[in-house]
Amino acid sequence: MTVSVVLFTSDLRLHDHPPLHAALDGAREVVPLFVRDPAVDRAGFAAPNRLAFLADCLADLDAGLKERGGRLVVRGGDTVTEVCGVARQTDADEVHMAAGHTAFARARETRLRHALESDGRRLYVHDAVTTVVPPGEVTPQGSDHFAVFTPYFRRWAAEPLRTPLAAPRSVPVPQGPRSERLPSRDSVADTSEGLAAGGESKGRRILGAWLSRHADDYEVRHDDLAGDATSRLSPYLHFGAVSATEMVHRARARGGAGAEAFVRQLCWRDFHHQVLAARPETAVEDYRPRLDLWRRGEEAEADLLAWREGRTGYPVVDAAMRQLAHEGWMHNRGRLLVASFLTKTLYLDWREGARHFLGLLVDGDVANNQLNWQWVAGTGTDTRPHRVLNPVLQGKRYDPHGAYVRRWVPELADLPGAAIHEPWRLKGLDRASYEYPDPIVDLAEGLARFRHARGRD
Ligand code: FAD
Repeated sequence: MTVSVVLFTSDLRLHDHPPLHAALDGAREVVPLFVRDPAVDRAGFAAPNRLAFLADCLADLDAGLKERGGRLVVRGGDTVTEVCGVARQTDADEVHMAAGHTAFARARETRLRHALESDGRRLYVHDAVTTVVPPGEVTPQGSDHFAVFTPYFRRWAAEPLRTPLAAPRSVPVPQGPRSERLPSRDSVADTSEGLAAGGESKGRRILGAWLSRHADDYEVRHDDLAGDATSRLSPYLHFGAVSATEMVHRARARGGAGAEAFVRQLCWRDFHHQVLAARPETAVEDYRPRLDLWRRGEEAEADLLAWREGRTGYPVVDAAMRQLAHEGWMHNRGRLLVASFLTKTLYLDWREGARHFLGLLVDGDVANNQLNWQWVAGTGTDTRPHRVLNPVLQGKRYDPHGAYVRRWVPELADLPGAAIHEPWRLKGLDRASYEYPDPIVDLAEGLARFRHARGRD
């Protein structure tokens, strides 16, 4: 055997890449291939921020391959047709790729396997490339997945980890397979102004710097909205530009409470993947139906629009929504409180919120987005499904000096201290002196409506 194809999907890196490693072990030459498949866009996975970030990742991957004597082949079209075409053209016996866990990825994998086999070729699908522990690898007795995080974490943490692989020194590629031009970030319209740059090199730099400077404080500072002390590695993880397995190894090697808390967050990522893999329908259906009759109609539409545009009259909610629009990313504490506000205080369907997030988030992925939304809405895996976060108390607690609100809601910048979280209470304030809406909902009324809807009054 002389040639193998490596199909890159959500694993756009050279370090710790088992499919590439296996292909190089078994073949004299490899074809590193990425397919821009319109079916991905049609399935609703593409959004401008992610397409721009993807372009950066592909450019960086191509540059890394070129340094090693290779190059990236990019094709546009149906994945199965393109992979089979390249395999035929280069006479490759094997195709290697990472396992995917969405219904879309699995269907693609099955089609590809059949098409390759009928051509006399083999598909090798490698586990633990995009997640640390493959979905389904640890299960509780009597079920195909864990529905509660803590017992999952215990089992996950005890799993043996594979040793991260070094990036290959050289990647010999055959002459021939034509590549389209790589997509460029600049050609993507409607991206967020403050969108981060993508790519493995950038992701690895962030990881190294964050572990040495911030990991130790993570446990105490991860909820500090203004402090912005989380790693911001989620988009690099989403595109596989950094390896989650390598991150766990490096964090554990560093040790300490901060690094341990960080590893626990990485486990949340695997947790949601194993739920989605076992219950693919939860991308759209309630994991635990609560008989919700979400608000609909004109008033509900107006509330949804105000939430999307960051003008609900609750400063910390609006700050977080504006951060999302500006950066294509939002702090986790922000995500929790805006999602609680939408689903519980406004009692609007979590699917509306999840759709808006997926349209903007650079790290937006079906497992983590849909299942975190369900967790917050109480239709998912939260063991306290009816808890409601109060945006004023959350603001005072996680943005005690109002610095986060001041950064994102400049019209309130002159308001003093924690009072910024309830501007309507400031006595003697000339409301005409700043343009900021009154609250669109009374918190007590919102709470009562929600409790009634869930039969808890
Ligand atoms: P860090 O705090 O540095 O954590 C390290 C990594 O752990 C993250 O990069 C992420 O991969 C993982 N992680 C942390 N928290 C969670 C979590 N609750 N669930 C799953 N993984 C987690 N994360 C996504 O990657 N994509 C999404 O589409 C997404 N949508 C979300 C929607 C809602 C409503 C909520 C509440 C959370 C969502 N999250 C999502 C999870 C979390 O908010 C982000 O992963 C995190 O804010 C990313 O920032 P970071 O990289 O600085 O995280």
